[in-house]
Amino acid sequence: MQTIRGFRDILPKHIPLWQKVEKEATCLFEAFGFKEIRIPILEKTELFARSIGEVTDIVEKEMYTFPDRKGDKLTLRPEATASIVRSYIQHKMYATDPVRKFFMIGPMFRRERPQKGRYRQFYQIDAEIFGVESAYIDSQLIYLLNELFKRLGLSGLSAHINSLGCPKCRPSFQKALLDFLESKKSRLCDNCTRRMDKNPLRILDCKVLDCKEAIADAPATLDCLCKECEDHFNTVKATLEKQGVDFIVDKSLVRGLDYYTRTAWEIQTTTLGAQSAVAGGGRYDGLVKELGGPQTPAIGFAIGFDRLVEVMEQIDKAPEEKPLDLFIVSLGDTAMEKGYLWSCKLNQAGIRTEMDFRGKSMKALMKRANKLNTQYVLIAGENELTENTIILRNMNTKEQVSLSLETLIPELIKILKK
Ligand code: ATP
Ligand code: MG
Repeated sequence: MQTIRGFRDILPKHIPLWQKVEKEATCLFEAFGFKEIRIPILEKTELFARSIGEVTDIVEKEMYTFPDRKGDKLTLRPEATASIVRSYIQHKMYATDPVRKFFMIGPMFRRERPQKGRYRQFYQIDAEIFGVESAYIDSQLIYLLNELFKRLGLSGLSAHINSLGCPKCRPSFQKALLDFLESKKSRLCDNCTRRMDKNPLRILDCKVLDCKEAIADAPATLDCLCKECEDHFNTVKATLEKQGVDFIVDKSLVRGLDYYTRTAWEIQTTTLGAQSAVAGGGRYDGLVKELGGPQTPAIGFAIGFDRLVEVMEQIDKAPEEKPLDLFIVSLGDTAMEKGYLWSCKLNQAGIRTEMDFRGKSMKALMKRANKLNTQYVLIAGENELTENTIILRNMNTKEQVSLSLETLIPELIKILKK
């Protein structure tokens, strides 16, 4: 049996890097006032169709959607924002305190063509802030991402930022865009021609090379911003500059989901080939209302966890595995039982202790102790047990000490906890 295409095991040898990222991210999120939220993996299809947008790549072709036994249409979550917004509304969080900051870490599912950095089950680290319109929050999220990547030792990443405007400036932009697209219609792919009436903005996100060339000079949202959106974006840029966060204004960045308004950004790397985005985010001031809540500004980002780890693996080998504290060499039945009881007590005290239950010889057990890279070996044979003293050997210095059986566990804890 094999995993399904695009799904993969993350094996123990890769886990230390995943844990390192999780630890740094959680620590930063807490310092910045985020609370962890855990959302279901399965939701009603309608939630994603309505929030991400019917005419988007994710909804049109990437979602794992199936009817459950009663015929309800369900979908494996392709992203986290929609579910977090649903939760915010469902639990009426806006009523007690509209200002909320959440983070979550977990798997997402998109049926894309698998390749390096692109999987059908992948992981995201996601952060969302509700209830704040201020541009400082936009800067803060980009600053936070920048700080996280710095702490993880990453360089060579760049923040591409853009403003997508708001419902006030959208209509004039859409008109300019449609006029432009009309003149390029013959050069667009079938998908884009079809989308022209339904969702012209998505054409700007088309990955087909010919389309990309045809729309190179398309009007940009940035050139059609209303005064409020322009001021908002200027504040984001000015504060990022003051904070020493490098960024590139990228007029062509539109992101693949419909709900974004105003600031949108992507953190890109040059080291992962075509899969260049390690994180993406943006403001979505209309989504809470769209999904049935009160008008609430909101903003968030998602880090591609798999890609982030792949970037780290290029510069950073996984942290060394911690050596074992103690290996108990137990020879004979009585020693086996004693060794077992001691090992559990030591494990309970937080000491990494192992033994071998297969009745091997002294020589084989010492070999195993070496293989497990242990700091200490405790040698328990029938003689040691009758004489009431037992030998602890330091594998680095080769020093040996005799310990009395009566006080063995507290003595071991004292020595090994150092
Ligand atoms: P891309 O342009 O690479 O398809 P996206 O815009 O579809 O990315 P988002 O929806 O913004 O991605 O998700 C945020 C991040 O999640 C991305 O920047 C990326 O790092 C990661 N990501 C998205 N899809 C996948 C995938 N199929 N496999 C691995 N990581 C992914
Ligand atoms: Mg995508």
